[in-house]
Amino acid sequence: MGIHEERARAFFQGVPLARKDGREGNKMYKETKESQWEEVVRFHGHICGGLTIGYKAASYAKKLLGIAKAADEEVVCIAENDACGVDAISVVLGCTVGRGNLLFHKIGKQAFSIYRRDTGESVRLVLKKLPRPMDKEDAKSYYLQKMPSELFDVKETTIPLPEKARIFRSKTCAVCQEETMEQEMISMEGQLHCKDCCKPYNRFQV
Ligand SMILES: [Zn+2]
Ligand SMILES: [Zn+2]
Repeated sequence: MGIHEERARAFFQGVPLARKDGREGNKMYKETKESQWEEVVRFHGHICGGLTIGYKAASYAKKLLGIAKAADEEVVCIAENDACGVDAISVVLGCTVGRGNLLFHKIGKQAFSIYRRDTGESVRLVLKKLPRPMDKEDAKSYYLQKMPSELFDVKETTIPLPEKARIFRSKTCAVCQEETMEQEMISMEGQLHCKDCCKPYNRFQV
């Protein structure tokens, strides 16, 4: 057992898991974890398997890396899908699209890489296969009941920590005259164009 798993195990010991209906398992759970789970459900709008996966991954990463909610960009998440689970990542880890610390490497996997900028530590959590075929409801209760360590393989991250979100200047599009982030523009015949005003140049399309 690595240092990561040890930290997580110590935290999760004695912390009851959410019941199937999302209510508290007992008083202690209510005081510790339930309020955040409720916050996650409120934010997402419903309880589903995907949300549960994201919630367990975020809580696990927090313990593995010893982090609190990201105040700004100290915590970065690269999600390998853009499904329900990323909403839980946003609430629990404070990684949001707007802050620039939630990024996507969309390859359709239930996998999340989480990084700490200050220490350079990171983990990649990859959802394990279900032990047997299950329908949607069964899978949801399975994910709700299991410990994060039972749900995820803890792997090394493969994508290097991305640089902090930069502020770019805006320039005026030569055609529509709308202000556009410079790095998103295309230079044509010496003038900057936004992508919507840029006529595609493809001499192979005949
Ligand atoms: Zn959902
Ligand atoms: Zn334009």
